[in-house]
Amino acid sequence: MAKTTKTTSSKPKSAARSKKTSQTKVYDSGSPLLRFLIKKPVIILFILLFAGLGTWLIAGGHALNLNDAEETKDNPARGLIYNGKKEASSGHCKGAFETDTTDASGQVLCGHPDPGPEGVDVRERNKGVDAQLNAQAAKDAKTPALAAEADTVSVDGAADVGSANSLNAVTPVNWPCAGTGTDGYRLQMIYAYAGGAANRVAYVRPGFETIARRLNAVYHNSGVVSGAVRNVRFVTDGACTLSLPAVAITGDINDANNIRNQLRARGFNASSRKYLVEVDGGSACGWGDLAIDSKPTQDNANNSGNLFAFVWHPCWNYAEPHETMHTMGAVQIGAPYGTSKYHCYDQHDVMCYNDGSGKAMILRCTNSIQIWRFDCGSDTYFRAVGASGWLSTHWNTANSRFLSH
Ligand SMILES: [Zn+2]
Repeated sequence: MAKTTKTTSSKPKSAARSKKTSQTKVYDSGSPLLRFLIKKPVIILFILLFAGLGTWLIAGGHALNLNDAEETKDNPARGLIYNGKKEASSGHCKGAFETDTTDASGQVLCGHPDPGPEGVDVRERNKGVDAQLNAQAAKDAKTPALAAEADTVSVDGAADVGSANSLNAVTPVNWPCAGTGTDGYRLQMIYAYAGGAANRVAYVRPGFETIARRLNAVYHNSGVVSGAVRNVRFVTDGACTLSLPAVAITGDINDANNIRNQLRARGFNASSRKYLVEVDGGSACGWGDLAIDSKPTQDNANNSGNLFAFVWHPCWNYAEPHETMHTMGAVQIGAPYGTSKYHCYDQHDVMCYNDGSGKAMILRCTNSIQIWRFDCGSDTYFRAVGASGWLSTHWNTANSRFLSH
């Protein structure tokens, strides 16, 4: 470090010496004070400039800038599209991204983009998503899903988990037909498409129903594992048909803020609704809104609505459990096995992945089906019955009123 600094600063010294020789003739007749004022500042300026530049380069200023750029550089293969946003290094959303809105407690609402499956190029996945969903829907039609089923895993499901490609591995439990379909606190699915593109809602509906089934199964089975059934309270009609409004979006289809703002303006802004937005288009993977609030009581900001989970086309039928669980309030900072970026590191677990926080991943739940279960160990963010330790004194998403108990 010191060596390079010296080398860098020695060049201007040499240059200054030769300059001094030539300038001596010009200012030879001037007073010593004049020569000092004219010549010395120039020399000192050169030395300081080059020495400072060298020191800055060596001290890592340049490297830090590169690192910052890398952090927010899009990674299309993983579906990470930042729209110029930067992760907050301080403040309320530290470790996450600030949105342009507030949560139920009046604090700035936080959130973050999530990548696609590890080892999968989501641009390739994007090409096969519709066919995968159609096949899954056809399979569901042939073998009607049960209303609620014990926590069993099929062999072919386990194989699908190995590919980390879909939610096939979960037991196909239907969504619950609770109440009128609209009463109380619920999850509203929305089909969002780019204005000017085709509205394919009729085509994709069977696929979204299969996603809803499997999304619910993740909650359902995670509840069973930790002591009691939990189901997602989807918005349906009176006959339990999944509500799936289609909304055209203008502007940047990859931008969560842009889509959220337009949906809210269209009336999707209820405190009794969380929103799962399936975006038909874009090149991003997932985004989850998350209120930074770990208090255990029902007035936790994550127990309110108007929070959005986004899943773009390349990650349909993959990111829904992760993003909706963020909107339920996981994973809060300080939780056991939690990272500094609102995930966990004790795999397998829907909410655990190497998120760049520097936490080393550990394999704590070895059964691969746990890839589609919440909270390995039931001690970080979700436990239906018998929460103890940190989870008994902080927010437990299994207590969410958006789930049936
Ligand atoms: Zn996440």
